[in-house]
Amino acid sequence: MTTKSSSPPSHATDSLETRSVHAGEPRPRPSGALVAPIYQSSTYEYHGEDYHDVAYLRLSTTPSQVSVGRKIAALEGAEAALVTASGMAAISATLMAFTSAGDHILAQDCLYGGTQSFLRGDLSRFGVEHSAIDPQRPESWAAQLKPTTRLIYVETLTNPLVQVADLEAVVAFAREHDLISVIDNTFASPVNFRPAEHGFDLVMESCTKYMNGHSDLVAGSVAGSAEKVRRIKLTLDHLGGCLDPHACFLLQRGLKTLTLRVRAQNASALALARLLDSHPAVAQVNYPGLKGHPEHARAAALFDGFGGMVSFELEGGTTAAEALLEAVTLPTVAVSLGGPETLMVRPAAAIHSQASAEQREASGITEGLIRMSVGLEGTDDLLADLAQALEQVG
Ligand SMILES: *Cc1c(COP(=O)(O)O)cnc(C)c1O
Repeated sequence: MTTKSSSPPSHATDSLETRSVHAGEPRPRPSGALVAPIYQSSTYEYHGEDYHDVAYLRLSTTPSQVSVGRKIAALEGAEAALVTASGMAAISATLMAFTSAGDHILAQDCLYGGTQSFLRGDLSRFGVEHSAIDPQRPESWAAQLKPTTRLIYVETLTNPLVQVADLEAVVAFAREHDLISVIDNTFASPVNFRPAEHGFDLVMESCTKYMNGHSDLVAGSVAGSAEKVRRIKLTLDHLGGCLDPHACFLLQRGLKTLTLRVRAQNASALALARLLDSHPAVAQVNYPGLKGHPEHARAAALFDGFGGMVSFELEGGTTAAEALLEAVTLPTVAVSLGGPETLMVRPAAAIHSQASAEQREASGITEGLIRMSVGLEGTDDLLADLAQALEQVG
């Protein structure tokens, strides 16, 4: 059957551009089609496989799921990858696959909201504890270790302050203490950073964002060794968070332009960050590509690009922030990121509104902070629009 037929070439040594186009595509091409078909079939002929290997959609064994998983593995520079129904499906299945009641996780103190509430609200109910670690102070991590610590969990770039943890120290610490190192690479995408090449055991992406890049689906992935990815698949098979064939098709298509999109977004984001940085109406700009960013040197050493996410505060605080969101004409006010359209949002209102004002202040998320996901519009158009909006509020 198709999933068992000869594996396509991995393209593992090709450039990222070539991998994004060709890796994982079914070979020979089904009926000669250049674009992999959507295999809209829940079940397939049975050939005596064991339960987890039966070709059935929920078991992530069908051609659409297998080929997009192979493309992502090639892009991450990992042995294997599994696609999931959302980023949170990848994160929850991964954390559940490697912990049991009584176990403990070290997790970066500022995490994506869904991940934070999964750790606090769900995993803790099942007896899995976690401690928050300061990602900039590796010397403080050992004191938080317990005999039951299994895993260390970080994000490549934090939301919304785009801070960069000491990622090399995370890998070294995990090796020294026999922990599984897990990273959510959503904000960077494999174009800007490939954690597996730096020794991370498992790499998560919310493919909803840059990986698909078109604001038209929700999906996730986890990449790593075949053995670890298999273990996550066994858990996902029971949780039921498989990716449907049509979403696989869209994701496969989106991935073909990943490198071009992300590099364009990197360039526009840097230009916009520089404009903000030089403008008198702006009090603070957070972008790792700016020389003044506290982790600029680390980001420059580790990353191939600084990403499309910028956050900033205006001199005029929340009132000015609200006025700016009104004054811009190209950006849309919306949550999410990584699509063709530039988005802006005030995280204190929209994303971190579940946290108390004190929790937000403690993590540096002020009321007036604006987060921007830079899209694929013309850089000059975005610069002109932001400049006219800043004049109005300044
Ligand atoms: C969006 C996001 C997620 C969750 O992804 P979904 O696809 O919405 O489930 C996880 N981590 C980060 C950093 C994200 O931005």
